[in-house]
Amino acid sequence: MLQRPFALPFRGELTAPGDGGYDQRRGLYNGLIDKRPALIAHCTATADVVAALAYGREAGLPIAIRGGGHNGGGLGSCDDGLVIDLSGMKGVRVDPRARTARVAAGCLQGEVDHATHVYGLAVPSGIFSTTGISGLTLGGGTGHLSRAFGLTLDNLLEADVVLADGRIVTASEDREPDLFWALRGGGGNFGIVTSFLFRAHPVSTVFGGPVFWDIAHAGAVLRRYRDRLPAAPEALGLFFGIKTVPPVDMFPEHTRGRRVCVLIACYNGPEDEARLALAPFRRGLPDPLIDATGPIPFPSLQAMFDPLLPPGLHWYWKGDFFEALSDEVIDIHLAHAARIPTNYSLMHLYPIDGAVQRVPPRATAWSRRHARWSMVIAGIDTERENAEAITRWAKDYWADLHPHSDGGGYVNFLMGDEGADRVAATYGENYDRLRRVKAVYDPQNLFRINQNIPPAVTH
Ligand SMILES: Cc1cc2nc3c(=O)[nH]c(=O)nc-3n(C[C@H](O)[C@H](O)[C@H](O)COP(=O)(O)OP(=O)(O)OC[C@H]3O[C@@H](n4cnc5c(N)ncnc54)[C@H](O)[C@@H]3O)c2cc1C
Repeated sequence: MLQRPFALPFRGELTAPGDGGYDQRRGLYNGLIDKRPALIAHCTATADVVAALAYGREAGLPIAIRGGGHNGGGLGSCDDGLVIDLSGMKGVRVDPRARTARVAAGCLQGEVDHATHVYGLAVPSGIFSTTGISGLTLGGGTGHLSRAFGLTLDNLLEADVVLADGRIVTASEDREPDLFWALRGGGGNFGIVTSFLFRAHPVSTVFGGPVFWDIAHAGAVLRRYRDRLPAAPEALGLFFGIKTVPPVDMFPEHTRGRRVCVLIACYNGPEDEARLALAPFRRGLPDPLIDATGPIPFPSLQAMFDPLLPPGLHWYWKGDFFEALSDEVIDIHLAHAARIPTNYSLMHLYPIDGAVQRVPPRATAWSRRHARWSMVIAGIDTERENAEAITRWAKDYWADLHPHSDGGGYVNFLMGDEGADRVAATYGENYDRLRRVKAVYDPQNLFRINQNIPPAVTH
């Protein structure tokens, strides 16, 4: 029954259980999540999305929307339902005069960086080139350029959207403004975005890369980072991490396998300015194990860590936002750093001050504008049998920190099991408005394979 042609013209590919390529098409970045959709509609254009959606709606199937497939909870797929897979919808058109980039929904970050770099431009996005631009944007988008230019969603100017009833609309500040507001943080709750128009910024070769210290110095490095970041120029993106030096050629042999803390820099400006900006983060601290900073094309920095975390690893992650990092919080980090369960597991603290904080909390659905740091704890490993160990570590670590956080999470760093209260806490003061917008654009909650915002009950 599922293999019959769609009622509307469809030029993509349909893949169902038993078809060649099914396992490859259904595979997700997070190897911990194993979902078996009834049908995967691999779309080539908006018309395919409309056809697939009409079919799923009529057949009463659960409908998942897949961009880059990077979601931690595997929310780009579903069991026994229809996956509307946008990953074949590629294409980036840069307008260098207007400094904009029109991006098709199936693009990965690296494809956007590649296309914009030749014009000396970049769209602010995350720190891995393999992440899908779609899920990243609709949930937030924190990365190296956040302090300077805001979240990815702060740079969204317009989106083409297929709504639950099959209509195609363009959302912007002037057209469908409520929808445009909700898309900027509300994830895949409001429709299927087929194309994004972004503001791009002058970014070309930056000064960046990682500086690693032995984990014994993590307290000192983190305190220095906390104290100096607020006064650092916004051209400096600098995030802190706790991890293990991977056993790969890119790192000196004597450092491989060492537990470390790291500062990862991206200065959008000349090298001498970058060195000045970074000096306060180094002065008086012990010598690092590795200093791999230097001038680097922005797309290369974005892709630097891709080989270290290939698709298919098992992930369990939890996140929170912090306005401040007290000494007590730093001690909690150190205690859990000492218990890292596997060499892949990590904790990252991304700065989201500067341009992110200048956007009023109610201006977009993404409300965590008072926070200074976005934290993610990721238990990661190659082996499924370590799933319990990585999950327990991430949950225990998070449970100790959460009382010190600002209460809400980041939809792009939630698994699928965090519950409705956590989603409501994440949206905070914007939650009720989101529910009202949902009632207008998706009253039947057709788009519910996500961090779901239930439609407000209207009378
Ligand atoms: C290795 C790694 C690094 C990461 N780094 C960062 C980072 O630096 N900064 C950051 O902010 N986040 C980061 N993330 C988190 C990332 O933003 C989320 O995982 C995001 O959901 C990925 O988007 P995707 O399109 O790849 O995901 P998918 O799994 O395809 O989709 C995720 C969600 O978005 C919805 N969705 C996807 N496309 C559309 C669309 N076109 N229209 C409507 N709804 C859609 C889906 O329904 C689903 O709920 C990272 C994730 C990984 C695994």
